[in-house]
Amino acid sequence: MTPLAAQLATQIAATGPMSLGDYMAACLMHPEHGYYASRDPFGAGGDFVTAPEISQMFGELVGLCLAQCWLDQGAPAPFVLAELGPGRGTLMADLLRATRAVPGFHDALRLHLVETSPVLRTAQAATLGRGDVAWCDRVEDLPDMPLYLVANEFFDALPIRQFQRSGTGWRERVVGLEGDGLSLGIGPEAPRPELDHRLGDTSEGDIVETCAPGTVIAAEIGTRIADRGGAALIVDYGDWHALGDTFQAVAGHAHTDPLAAPGMADLTAHVDFEALALAATPAAYSRLCPQGTFLARLGIGARAEALAQGLSGGALDSHMAAFRRLTGADEMGTLFKVLSLMPPGAAPPPGLDP
Ligand code: SAH
Repeated sequence: MTPLAAQLATQIAATGPMSLGDYMAACLMHPEHGYYASRDPFGAGGDFVTAPEISQMFGELVGLCLAQCWLDQGAPAPFVLAELGPGRGTLMADLLRATRAVPGFHDALRLHLVETSPVLRTAQAATLGRGDVAWCDRVEDLPDMPLYLVANEFFDALPIRQFQRSGTGWRERVVGLEGDGLSLGIGPEAPRPELDHRLGDTSEGDIVETCAPGTVIAAEIGTRIADRGGAALIVDYGDWHALGDTFQAVAGHAHTDPLAAPGMADLTAHVDFEALALAATPAAYSRLCPQGTFLARLGIGARAEALAQGLSGGALDSHMAAFRRLTGADEMGTLFKVLSLMPPGAAPPPGLDP
């Protein structure tokens, strides 16, 4: 049993079963034993690899996309350039390098990273190597300015709750105890007015997921972008209008049982982009776009060719493999989607449709 499993078992024995949301929050962010709070999980030696860690092209194109939005909105200065959950800081480093040639962009930007993990804050500082980075725990803490923001594989890490349809009510899936070990259980049937809108598209036994922390963050971003201008690019796996159980654990690049080793595996759920888009009102939102299509429209093909010019042998092979991994339909190209938030009436960022 991990130290966190023992702690959670004691807590459940004293106060009863806990929601999946509380379980996920403890596993990911517990100050001592939490998955993100205590380690750097990225890369080949870690548990999973994200798009910016696969190739510099991802951060470069995201950066140029945001910079074009900034130009299209009249180049407001100063503005907040923010990233949610920047991991190792690789995306931001590539974004900053690619936008150096955009006149005025670097002079006007105020760089803010929203990151709760002390270990990853240290990694981000080392990757970026600049003195003007400000960190905060929450989007609410960002300065009140036009906001250009990116979040890659951030919303999937936020705690979700699951509810199983039972008549016109719902039963919450919870983490309880079986013997000494943690086990998945189900709570009593109760009405859930906040899920009334899901009575029409679900049937008996279906599971729906909610992510209150995600909708709160999307609402805050949407209000700021509608009031002050800006744009948000949200990239993640998931779909428009979620249905079913997508709660999963990954450790050492393989799926594992989410209850087996709390704090030692990455816990995620698919992102319900519709819930984020609706929560962001009064901001407008783009149509959900597959990552492969988005990157192709931004010119990843030409960028891949340009980078390939300087490569040969194994380096060229791995560059081309990275290109396929980011864009291929059987890899990240269709599983990952892009949503943007923008001011009401504004055109969507390059690469995305209204
Ligand atoms: N964007 C990065 C890392 C994604 S992993 C990449 O693409 O490589 C998720 C990131 O979100 C980690 O940096 C994690 O520490 C951070 N994170 C998770 N929950 C958070 C929260 N509630 N507030 C701020 N950061 C959070």
